[in-house]
Order: sequence, then C-alpha cells, then structure tokens
Amino acid sequence: MIPTTPIRQAAQALAQAHHIVCLTGAGVSAESGVAPFRAAQTGLWSKFYPQRLASQEGFADDPGLVWRWYMERLRTVEAAAPNPGHRALAQLETLKPAFTLVTQNVDNLHERAGSRQVYHIHGRINHFRCNYCRAEYPLQAHEQTQEQPPICPHCSELVRPDVVWFGESLPVDVVDIAWRAAESCEIMLVVGTSGVVYPVAQLPSVAKRAGALVIDVNPQCTPVSEMADIFLQGAGGVVLPQLLEALSPTLP
Ligand SMILES: [Zn+2]
Repeated sequence: MIPTTPIRQAAQALAQAHHIVCLTGAGVSAESGVAPFRAAQTGLWSKFYPQRLASQEGFADDPGLVWRWYMERLRTVEAAAPNPGHRALAQLETLKPAFTLVTQNVDNLHERAGSRQVYHIHGRINHFRCNYCRAEYPLQAHEQTQEQPPICPHCSELVRPDVVWFGESLPVDVVDIAWRAAESCEIMLVVGTSGVVYPVAQLPSVAKRAGALVIDVNPQCTPVSEMADIFLQGAGGVVLPQLLEALSPTLP
C-alpha cells in the first residue's frame, strides 16, 4: 500500500504543471502480458543471441528467422489489451493539453488505450518498411504467417518491422522531440523503465537538470527512482489510476 502523501504530492505537482513529459518503458507493456525482448525469448527462441533476431547482420544472415520472431511478437501484441496504466495516461493527456508521451515500447497499447500522440523512440512493431529504400509497406494479414519477409515493390529488397535494431540509430525526429520536451517540461513522469537503456535513460536527468520535477513509478527501485524527487513504488496499472484519482479534485 502506497502512503497517500507522495501520491498527493505528485498529484498536486501535476495539477499545477503546464508541460508534462511522460516516459514509459517495458514494465508498462509487461503488465499487459507483452514481455520485454529478452524475457520473450522462450522456447525455440531462447537459443539465439538477441542480436541474431534484431540486427542488420542477423537479418542478412537469416531474414526468415527474424521475420518469424517479429510476427510472433506482433501476435502477442495484438492479443494483449491495454491496462489501467495505459488508460490513466490517455486520460492525463485529455486533462493536460501540453502532455508529451515518449515510449520505449514498440507496441501500440498506448494508442489502443486512447492516447492520441505517442512518440515511439524505439519504433513500432506494427509498422513496416523496406530495409533498403525505407518505403512504408502496408502489411497484409496473410503476410504475417509467411515464413519470409515480403519484398519491397519499389526496389525488390526485403521488408522489415519499423523497429530500432541493435546497432541502429534512434529515429532523429523522435529523439529531437523527446530531448526538447525534457529540457522544457515542468514534470517528467517516468513509468516502468529500468533506467539502464541508453540514451533514453538520460531523459530524466536532462529534465531534472533543466529544473523539472521527476516522478518515478516502478515496482522496483531503479537508478531513476534514486534520482527522482518523488518515487511512487508500485505497478503503473495500480499507481497511475490512484494518481489520476488524487489529481481530479485538485484541477480547476
Ligand atoms: Zn525498397
């Protein structure tokens, strides 16, 4: 049970703030049954190094293997449902117009919970593009069960999920938005992220240095919890609805 004081303190800060940035990580998806990459490597997938399933080298070596891995991940995402944490953040966006949601998650659970603007810093598993010419590719349902990736109609190279693989750069437009938002926000709300995956792990520090209040929501104490001004220990699906409930009476 979380003491009421930190929750109320966080709710009051949120009520007064104009610009809020929320950074969500793997914990938020895990609560919906979408396991983080390595934890999802069970069964036959457990024998592969993560780089074999998510890098240019791995894709060049065995595109079918990478394709089948991502199609299995996609099916898991499609079968999952947003949890109360996702819904609370969608609600917060309606209460606070200057709300920037940055996620490390590649699934679309935030969107399905009602969030209108989501910045996916590690890409999106349900979007596809050519690995060579980058043309977007609208994947057909029957292609999800194919053994090999589809072929780009423009250049005949292979189609891939629009996610960031090991060794690849983060999307510059999203990074730019996330960093600018972190530098200008009044509150950085961090939910379910371990705080160890760089460079995204720097975002809370960037915000703090620029004068923002950092609130961390996590079942475990992490490096982010240690530097946060307010640490709300617990799962996002439990803590965020409580935070919204505490916030509602304080709003004008
Ligand atoms: Zn192409």
